[in-house]
Amino acid sequence: MKIPLNQEEQQVLDEVRRFFAQEITPELLEESHHLEYIYGGEEGRKFVQKFAPKGWLTPCWPKEYGGLETSEMLMYAIRNEMAYHRVPIHFAGAHMAGPSILRYGTEEMKKEYLPRLATGEIEFALGYSEPAAGSDLMALEMHAADKGDHFLVNGQKTFNTHAHVADYHWLAVRTNLEGPKHKGISILIVDLKNTPGITVRPMITMAGTRTNEVFYDNVKVPRRNLVGEVNSGFKYIMAALDFERMFPWGHYKKYFEEILAYTKTATRNGKPLAKDPLIRQKLAEHATELEVIHHLYFNLAHLLDNGKIPNYQASMEKNFLSEFEQRLSNTAMEILGPMGQLKTGSKHAVLEGFPEWLYRWTIIETIYGGSAEIQRNIMAQRGLGLPRA
Ligand SMILES: Cc1cc2nc3c(=O)[nH]c(=O)nc-3n(C[C@H](O)[C@H](O)[C@H](O)COP(=O)(O)OP(=O)(O)OC[C@H]3O[C@@H](n4cnc5c(N)ncnc54)[C@H](O)[C@@H]3O)c2cc1C
Repeated sequence: MKIPLNQEEQQVLDEVRRFFAQEITPELLEESHHLEYIYGGEEGRKFVQKFAPKGWLTPCWPKEYGGLETSEMLMYAIRNEMAYHRVPIHFAGAHMAGPSILRYGTEEMKKEYLPRLATGEIEFALGYSEPAAGSDLMALEMHAADKGDHFLVNGQKTFNTHAHVADYHWLAVRTNLEGPKHKGISILIVDLKNTPGITVRPMITMAGTRTNEVFYDNVKVPRRNLVGEVNSGFKYIMAALDFERMFPWGHYKKYFEEILAYTKTATRNGKPLAKDPLIRQKLAEHATELEVIHHLYFNLAHLLDNGKIPNYQASMEKNFLSEFEQRLSNTAMEILGPMGQLKTGSKHAVLEGFPEWLYRWTIIETIYGGSAEIQRNIMAQRGLGLPRA
């Protein structure tokens, strides 16, 4: 299915493709892979700060904040193109905090953060999860005491992925210890680089990539950094999570193409892999799944362009894609055999060791951004109208 773009938008997408063909360097690709495609590294910043001022990072935002006022469809198409080219695609600022500031922030806050997010000048880290609050975010405990002109914050966050490269923290805190848990949470914006009392410590995932624990020890956050209304943060988090669950899939299309190309040239026991009936069946199945993902993904843009915020539909896309990635990775391992298990840097590694890394990485995909079980609960409750479990 062709992406439904008008003529002008199609021209922008073509221009983006030409830009990628000219500007992507081996250094950028290496850093991007090392940072698991999150934004904030040196090479990524150089690249995005050339690309984003054209309005391509946030094309559907209002022009006054750095957008082009295009459809969401174009934004989705560009994000997927970025994924296909393996440049940074996880922008906690432009794609999660930014849309929330646009909806709930004061005019002053919009002017302060949105243009800098749109040009890639600054990046955010998402500060939601805590050791005892992941799926059940309502249980979060990091406390922000209201001191009038500022909040005094104490506590611990965990799995805050961009925190070691980001400039700001999009921080969920407890501002009311009484009453229902979801009515006592607020969102603060914290300057991660210039605020005393914050410690960021690495946590290394099974894919060898970095996420972080973040500790707040008597950290003063100015009151003007409160997003929207005090104690309304849970509502904002839920809306922002719907944005986060729109996962581009271009990198898996590219991976599929690489595996396909490999089977067309490689042989085993003197026979071309491309003639193996099992391999042919699997690849045909995955090509179908890619087509399904294409529809699920661009349907989210269609909903947004029609004034709706995707909810259970975002969960469907996230789950189908992340579980597809695991199936594709399994297939790749079966096709490549023992050579597929060799790491990057090994003399005999296939596709530069990418399959070995991806096999470990895809396990994480069904956890972050909300686990597979939580996505299914959302689909059951909000999509199918089943009662709360
Ligand atoms: C690599 C990585 C990066 C991350 N990045 C960030 C980030 O940048 N910022 C951030 O704030 N967080 C981040 N997270 C945290 C992520 O959102 C949580 O790990 C996730 O929401 C699951 O929470 P948990 O780890 O506490 O597991 P738990 O909530 O303890 O869940 C454990 C298991 O129980 C299941 N489960 C829990 N509740 C239910 C239920 N009601 N019904 C059925 N099954 C249930 C879960 O599916 C899971 O299998 C990241 C996590 C990872 C692994």
